[in-house]
Amino acid sequence: MRASVVSIGHELLMGKTLNRHLVTIARSLKGIGISIDHAYIVKDDPEAIFQELSHIHDEVIIFTGGLGPTPDDLTKETVCDFFKMPLTLHEPSLEAIKAQFKRYGKPMSESNLKQAYFPASATILDNPQGTAPGAIFKTPTNQWVVLLPGPPVELNPMLPYVKAFFQETFQETMHEDGFLVAGIGESEMEDLLAGLYAQHPDVYIAPYAGNGEIQYFFTAQDETKLHLAMEAFKARAGAYIVGPYQTTFEALLIEALTKRQETIAVAESMTAGMVSARLTDIPGASQVLKESLIVYSDAAKIKYLGIDPVLLQEKTAVSEEVAHAMVEGLHAQTGADLCGAITGYAGPTSDGSVPIGQVFMAVKYHGKTTLNTVTLQGNRSFIRERTTAFLLHMLLRRVMDDGR
Ligand code: ATP
Ligand code: MG
Repeated sequence: MRASVVSIGHELLMGKTLNRHLVTIARSLKGIGISIDHAYIVKDDPEAIFQELSHIHDEVIIFTGGLGPTPDDLTKETVCDFFKMPLTLHEPSLEAIKAQFKRYGKPMSESNLKQAYFPASATILDNPQGTAPGAIFKTPTNQWVVLLPGPPVELNPMLPYVKAFFQETFQETMHEDGFLVAGIGESEMEDLLAGLYAQHPDVYIAPYAGNGEIQYFFTAQDETKLHLAMEAFKARAGAYIVGPYQTTFEALLIEALTKRQETIAVAESMTAGMVSARLTDIPGASQVLKESLIVYSDAAKIKYLGIDPVLLQEKTAVSEEVAHAMVEGLHAQTGADLCGAITGYAGPTSDGSVPIGQVFMAVKYHGKTTLNTVTLQGNRSFIRERTTAFLLHMLLRRVMDDGR
């Protein structure tokens, strides 16, 4: 089942508002056999909406925005005009709108009346957050139209109902699964998978590259075919799989350490707490995160990690030797089972001794220390985020490869 998402609003075209609805809708309808093949952004103008509608032939058309009470909110009126579907009063919606006003202690404004009008055959989606109900109806052209309000607090709660409606209507269950992959680039991964997609034509395999990781989504109607494709993927790329899809390095790390009843400590210079922040995003982090140090300055490295000032002088703070000394110092100070340290230059300026984007990381686990040097290209925030992901992956890998 193919779908188009049509987002209505000048503000989306002017760059004032990000079209977040496209993302939330695509995510929420994934896995039920509706694939979003097209997305449009159209201004609040009947002519522009007519023009787009005249060439949308997808079976499902999802509109967002323009269901408000003002004259510039004209999505529903225009769409129904296009499909020549008369609007009739939907009494329960009128009652719900009146009740909304009563809750705010105000009389219902005349302009809100139009929000209770829908094609007679429409299924109405309640809007407990506002006065604009959503709707789903079939057009004379045999297409399904979904109307959703613009404000995210109003639209988001309607999506589970839209999903349930189509699941019931199409009775098409899609199975979904996947892997989290790291330690390899997207193009190298595609080389590794060459030919695999063609061998599994009934399975939709899609990579979503994140910052330092790739999620591979597998979707299929036939569960057996889905598993066969996943097995084939594992046979080729198993070395790079770190866990199931829709998980994170930090979640896997906290889970693994909790199981082992082990602790972690991190010492961050360049990332100044970003690794710790990601770890503490996970409920249960308090059980495993023993200590977390931000050692941005040389003085802090000396004070808290016992780094030899001579080493700092000779090698500078951004060096493999200092990363190594940081992780050893951290282990000596905290006694945590797993220790990680970062030092690097995120830019935009450097003293010239080390290139911008050069990062040194060290991990110590069960008495063995591993060092890693990477040179990243990008702006300051990209380099810091990528480094954060890199250390988290390095920490996770060490635990996974420990084989317990
Ligand atoms: P209202 O009753 O508030 O007028 P509406 O259904 O008419 O609601 P719009 O007027 O189109 O919706 O949009 C209201 C607000 O919702 C916008 O100002 C914007 O903040 C948000 N919004 C609209 N469309 C989107 C979108 N595609 N992605 C994210 N936010 C959006
Ligand atoms: Mg509006």
